[in-house]
Amino acid sequence: MTNTELPIEIAGAGPAGLAAAITLAHAGRKVIVHETQKEVGHRFGGDFQGIENWTSEEDALSVLENQGITTEFNKMPCRNGTVFDPNDKRYEISSDEILFYIVERGPGPGSLDSALLKQAQSLGVEVRFNSRLRHMAGDGILAAGPRAADAIAVGYHFETDMADGYWAICDDALAPEGYAYLLVMNGKGTIKTCMFSGFKQEKIYVKRTLEAFQRLVGLEMKNPQPHGGSGNFRIPDSAYSGPHPLVGEQAGFQDTLWGFGMRLAISSGVLAAQSLLSGENYDKLWQRDLKPQMETAVVNRALYSLSGSRGYSWFLGQLVSRQNLRKALRQQYQSSWPKRLLGPWARRRYKSRRKDITCDHIDCHCIWCRGECCVHD
Ligand SMILES: Cc1cc2nc3c(=O)[nH]c(=O)nc-3n(C[C@H](O)[C@H](O)[C@H](O)COP(=O)(O)OP(=O)(O)OC[C@H]3O[C@@H](n4cnc5c(N)ncnc54)[C@H](O)[C@@H]3O)c2cc1C
Repeated sequence: MTNTELPIEIAGAGPAGLAAAITLAHAGRKVIVHETQKEVGHRFGGDFQGIENWTSEEDALSVLENQGITTEFNKMPCRNGTVFDPNDKRYEISSDEILFYIVERGPGPGSLDSALLKQAQSLGVEVRFNSRLRHMAGDGILAAGPRAADAIAVGYHFETDMADGYWAICDDALAPEGYAYLLVMNGKGTIKTCMFSGFKQEKIYVKRTLEAFQRLVGLEMKNPQPHGGSGNFRIPDSAYSGPHPLVGEQAGFQDTLWGFGMRLAISSGVLAAQSLLSGENYDKLWQRDLKPQMETAVVNRALYSLSGSRGYSWFLGQLVSRQNLRKALRQQYQSSWPKRLLGPWARRRYKSRRKDITCDHIDCHCIWCRGECCVHD
């Protein structure tokens, strides 16, 4: 068999791995995806997440279409919503343009993961569930998700009679250095505290988050199910492990500011596949297309973490005063000389911890130490 007749193996059927598989299959390559779980999106099971629509001028869905990736999943375009500061002050977000799309994650019908799986399989990709890839002999891509917890997001999934919408609270008392959020779509919701430190006090922060959303927006939850997970944020020098490209969160590709990692996962999967097809160096491709945005996000993270409660109020005031919010957010994520100048300071301040330094992993029951958020190997 010639090299191009040999199957390409992919470890992980998340957005990164499936996007890579779809790209390779489009080019006529034989692909086998190994997924350690019994189904796609197992670690998310019905979670709602946002596909951000601000890092590119082009709409996020049309970017996906141009990448050859399906958009045949349920989605709710979000323009207007409400954010609160630590003093319970409301900031009404109003945008003429779509800021993000809420999508469902997990194995259910209409989810992002199910749509990617369906597209991959329709192109002839073989997906092997309950199959942990431990060794890769030929060409392959590593897409196994987060290897560490730089942030955790913990809370509940639930059913509700609340109207569709999104709400967030920026308050270190609920979500240290992060934010708490509530997303509702078609009678179902998710509520989370997204924390960048203080993992050990996870339970207290979840409780405060529930109380705050009950007080501020009349949160109603029926049949609440606990859910949480972790995020791994890191800009590697090289995203190769030996000869194999690393994609998505296994490479550490994430939005260090707020954790919107899905688009980076999909784009890196597409780029890794293209590198295998063309022989181009994958590091060159992601460093050209993804690194500037990720570096700016690290600066944004360092500034956000430093700003504390007063800074959040100032930041939210600035945000709502902007005429074109989508454009304002895009500018925040674009590389600029002041942010490049702050880069070395931000990188010293923010380092992927591979663990939360406030969590010593002793007598700790946070989502990472419980091992429920991903695979510890
Ligand atoms: C609670 C939470 C909320 C989030 N909200 C958002 C949001 O609103 N917007 C956003 O853009 N991002 C969000 N993210 C981040 C986003 O989910 C991730 O960035 C994205 O899923 C990363 O995709 P991935 O394919 O790299 O990894 P994953 O989606 O983690 O997929 C990796 C897959 O590999 C499998 N696997 C692991 N090891 C092996 C192995 N050895 N062999 C075979 N298979 C293996 C795993 O079972 C898993 O299915 C959130 C994350 C969490 C935890």
